[in-house]
Amino acid sequence: MNSFGAFLKRKFGGRTQRVSIDAGFTCPNVDGAVARGGCNFCDNRSFSPSRRVRLRRVSEQLQSGMETVRARYDKVSSFIAYFQPATNTYAPVEQLQEVYELAMSLDEQVVGLAIGTRPDCVPESVLSMIQRLADQTYVSLEYGMQTMHDPGLVWMNRAHTHADMVNAMDRSRGRGFECCAHVILGIPGETHEMMMQTANEIGVLGFDAVKIHNLYAVKGTPLGQQVLDGDIKMMERDDYVATVVDFLERIPPEVVVERISGDAPKNFLIAPQWCREKSKLRIDIEAEFRRRGTVQGSRFVKPQVEPAERPVPVDLTPQSIRNQIETRGRLPVLKIQQ
Ligand code: SF4
Repeated sequence: MNSFGAFLKRKFGGRTQRVSIDAGFTCPNVDGAVARGGCNFCDNRSFSPSRRVRLRRVSEQLQSGMETVRARYDKVSSFIAYFQPATNTYAPVEQLQEVYELAMSLDEQVVGLAIGTRPDCVPESVLSMIQRLADQTYVSLEYGMQTMHDPGLVWMNRAHTHADMVNAMDRSRGRGFECCAHVILGIPGETHEMMMQTANEIGVLGFDAVKIHNLYAVKGTPLGQQVLDGDIKMMERDDYVATVVDFLERIPPEVVVERISGDAPKNFLIAPQWCREKSKLRIDIEAEFRRRGTVQGSRFVKPQVEPAERPVPVDLTPQSIRNQIETRGRLPVLKIQQ
């Protein structure tokens, strides 16, 4: 498969590591702009305003994250500042630009940005600003797609539809930054065929990269409680290995595979326990490719309409999110510190 590590090495000429930054954003699916409670798998209690105040400065987080990585790995040549928790485009565009530029300028070893967000939270003003940044540095915009099937999105309480994802991608593609899809396999009610349809959608929408996760449950979440109550069954390991390979066979060969499983720290994870052994899982996924004699993209079918030829739609960002983005000066995200 076209692995992320190899991609980074080709692009930056050495070992590049991501450093996670919590810049103090919240999420429209938590603060009520589109819903409350958040996704059923997300431990979003930490997004509450009172906790935001205790955040360390963005610069301190980045510096200390880089120090930790340098101590762990020899020969790290560069870093990507990864705005990871919550919805990292959910603030006035001036504030977003300020915090992204701060990260870009902090250290010459910072060679790019990764920004995690929701597909309903990228108004034109935000995409244009990110496009301008992408003229100066590598930027990956990471969308929580999860699945192309709305019943699965409803089950997760995502509070957006797949049409939002299509709309966001049709406005994001070709702007000079990379678009990455975060996908979850093993959503209750989704058949193997439905997961393969989501795989095909990666090529249809023209994503540059994908992060594939098994559904996993952590403590303190609605999903965690459902698993503890025995209401939800997680995917078995063997099934996951085969499904990931099936998925990767259907995506374009050039798509960068940034992740093939997800897990959580031991004291937070409820299930499945097998996802803790990430390297073993990777070895088994690669072995399954060898056993089949296939590679990423072996079963990729070109979409009828090339992604670059899809029409650019109007911006469908919900007004509730626009209002919050415009008025967020009064909201806790202003606690972003430099
Ligand atoms: S959209 Fe993202 S940040 Fe918001 S609740 Fe869902 S997973 Fe958490």
